[in-house]
Amino acid sequence: MHNTRREFLRLAGSAAFIAAAAPHALARAPFAGAIQPSYRLKLGDLEVTALADGYLDVEQKLYTTADKAEMSKLLSNAFRDASAPIRTAVNAFVVNTGEKLILIDCGTIQGFGPTLAKLPERLEAQGFSPEQFDAVLLTHMHPDHVGAATNSDGAARFAKAELIIAETEWKFWSDDGNASRAPKDIQPFFKIATDAAKPYHKSLRLFGKDEEVMQGITSVALPGHTPGHTGFIIASGKESLLVWGDIVHSAALQFAHPEWAIAFDVDQTQAIATRKAIFDRAAAEKLLVAGMHIDFPGFGHVVQASPAYGFTPAFWRLDQ
Ligand SMILES: [Zn+2]
Repeated sequence: MHNTRREFLRLAGSAAFIAAAAPHALARAPFAGAIQPSYRLKLGDLEVTALADGYLDVEQKLYTTADKAEMSKLLSNAFRDASAPIRTAVNAFVVNTGEKLILIDCGTIQGFGPTLAKLPERLEAQGFSPEQFDAVLLTHMHPDHVGAATNSDGAARFAKAELIIAETEWKFWSDDGNASRAPKDIQPFFKIATDAAKPYHKSLRLFGKDEEVMQGITSVALPGHTPGHTGFIIASGKESLLVWGDIVHSAALQFAHPEWAIAFDVDQTQAIATRKAIFDRAAAEKLLVAGMHIDFPGFGHVVQASPAYGFTPAFWRLDQ
């Protein structure tokens, strides 16, 4: 005992002991900088990976039907800056069935700013190479959903993949008449949509309403945001997931006020009705949902709440 104590005191006073004990207290590490966010969960026999394309700051005034005072209150309650544009995630999802590798949405096109269009590097960081993909499913054809479909030279990034879109969606964006009738600031969206699909002309597959588009993946028509806006129910074993695209652009606002539409909705009245209906269904069926604009990784459950609905983010799963 004595010896041990003496030995400890001798060691404690020695330079070697101080050097060995000190690193935790004194170590300096360089800042790690940006990360490559991803999140993966098992869904039955499938693997679903959420990837962050980035984020954009949405002007509050784009919630055209929102009450200003109520919006400020909700943003403050959600610990958001009530006087700033609303920071909004852009997500995409990879589904690996074991047989097929599928990408749902492609993130944002280049040129929307430095915080977006990260999907290609996020795919690579997760070990996915573009030529591995069998299919690319699009919830709709807005510029923040078709981005990585093509390379910078306009060629198909996912050269071996089918491009799978709702027929209604494709017909809307590829109609020159619709393009010329659209508001001026929306007109470029038509060319962006058709340019994204152009290199896939041989592998473009269009689906109807509520169809099984791949084994275990069924489309759910969710019109309004765009005419062919679509969710996908992915099912395996006892588990299922609804990837619902742009049903929600701000969780802080639109669960409490599903009647608040965003300026990008092609048909706001229909978008509002669709949002309420799918909220009701998701809450009643206790569906796990995932959204392209819900804070990364975007998984959670809709609950009935006051004044309307609420959103409970899914717990962090460390599935193997
Ligand atoms: Zn979007």
